[in-house]
Amino acid sequence: MRIPSVHQLKERLAKLHPKHPFSLFTIPARRVAQQLRELKQRGELESISEKDLDGLLTKAFLEYTTPHLRRVINGTGVIVHTNLGRAPLAKEVISQLLEVALKYSNLELNLLTGKRGSRYSHVEELLLELTGAEAALVVNNNASAVLISLNTLAQGREVIVSRGEMVEIGGSFRIPEVMGWAGCILIEVGTTNKTHLFDYERAINEKTALLLKVHKSNYAIVGFTKEVTAEALVTLGHSRGIPVMEDLGSGSFIDFSKYGLAKEPTVQESIKAGVDVVTFSGDKLLGGPQAGIILGKKEIIEKIRRNPLNRAIRIDKLTLAALEGTLRLYRDESIAIQAIPVLNMMLCPVEKIKRRAQRLARELKNTSPSFQVKLIKTYAKTGGGALPLLDIPSYGVALKIEGVSPQILSEKLRMADPPILGITMDDFLVLDGRTLFDEDLQYIKTAFMKLRDELGLPS
Ligand SMILES: *Cc1c(COP(=O)(O)O)cnc(C)c1O
Repeated sequence: MRIPSVHQLKERLAKLHPKHPFSLFTIPARRVAQQLRELKQRGELESISEKDLDGLLTKAFLEYTTPHLRRVINGTGVIVHTNLGRAPLAKEVISQLLEVALKYSNLELNLLTGKRGSRYSHVEELLLELTGAEAALVVNNNASAVLISLNTLAQGREVIVSRGEMVEIGGSFRIPEVMGWAGCILIEVGTTNKTHLFDYERAINEKTALLLKVHKSNYAIVGFTKEVTAEALVTLGHSRGIPVMEDLGSGSFIDFSKYGLAKEPTVQESIKAGVDVVTFSGDKLLGGPQAGIILGKKEIIEKIRRNPLNRAIRIDKLTLAALEGTLRLYRDESIAIQAIPVLNMMLCPVEKIKRRAQRLARELKNTSPSFQVKLIKTYAKTGGGALPLLDIPSYGVALKIEGVSPQILSEKLRMADPPILGITMDDFLVLDGRTLFDEDLQYIKTAFMKLRDELGLPS
């Protein structure tokens, strides 16, 4: 075969995909031309049939036109998975999000007065209602919430933090470095496993601007430990005229211990303890969009709002729409638990997960006798730097195909549409039922039917 010109390849693509504009064929045609040149160099061009060529063209075209950021199926059992987009939003939020996205909105217009309004007004009242805080501000994520709060309250001055709370949250968010960026001087007190109130007390001097408590997030110190409660820090700080800040990380409005899970400190508890500034994420346990929420005392929040840095980290209208929608669901805890996927997955009874996994196992068993399929007990994880020690009982489907390593199987499932992510355990690939949506099951089944046909296995 002679290598066709790019133009000839485009014309061939136009016949294969007649509904698309010709301009979309240029890049896939060039990519295929390049592939053909490489085949020729390796002396493999002769083995390519006309049908193979059409296959290469269609593959290149689909790769070029499929959105790069797209939904995937999470079979990992990690509920708030940072690589997989953290919290899936509640369906109830979507209509508001669409309206605001597709049309104009009152983002910065006060409809009562007709004058300029504040973008924060759309969630401020709700946040106060839900948490009992005096004032609220939202920014684009919790990292920037921490940064702007530190910068506003303690630039050029000292911030006291326990050595047990020097966390790194993956990526490059590390407490000592954030202190540096915010222009504060970090004063570490206590030891890794034990910090006492007197450690903070001894470190206080005229340069002290803030006492900071950081949620340990993605790790736990177990054994011989001691940390100072928010209440005790508030009592100490306020007796010396020093504000107290708490970075809650995940930040939950729901006390999970009520539902038989481990205790995760709630936002309401921090506010009640009298903490002056509390920060947390919108897209971890809260189950909303990426956002940083700052709650606290009125004068302090007002000062943070006026910090010029606020303009650089401001929240956008789509996020605000999704955040308002999510927060509204929290007005009734039972509605929140039903509607917000993160909460629903956390609290879904294990029997229900078992039935879902059983259904999936049955479907996959029926797809091919060559698939080895088992229902297994697993443990799901919260993820997102919350409840690191909590194992949530769950069920999964473990799969094996003779002659296909679990690594190859994972790779093939990652290439499915939508991509499917699981975990490998020994020789098996496991899909955990707790992080699957019911509607995912049909896609998983389709992917396995395709895989069966591709590998030439019996049905
Ligand atoms: C996750 C986390 C952050 C960063 O929040 P983002 O929303 O990812 O910016 C900061 N502090 C703690 C303790 C966290 O757990």
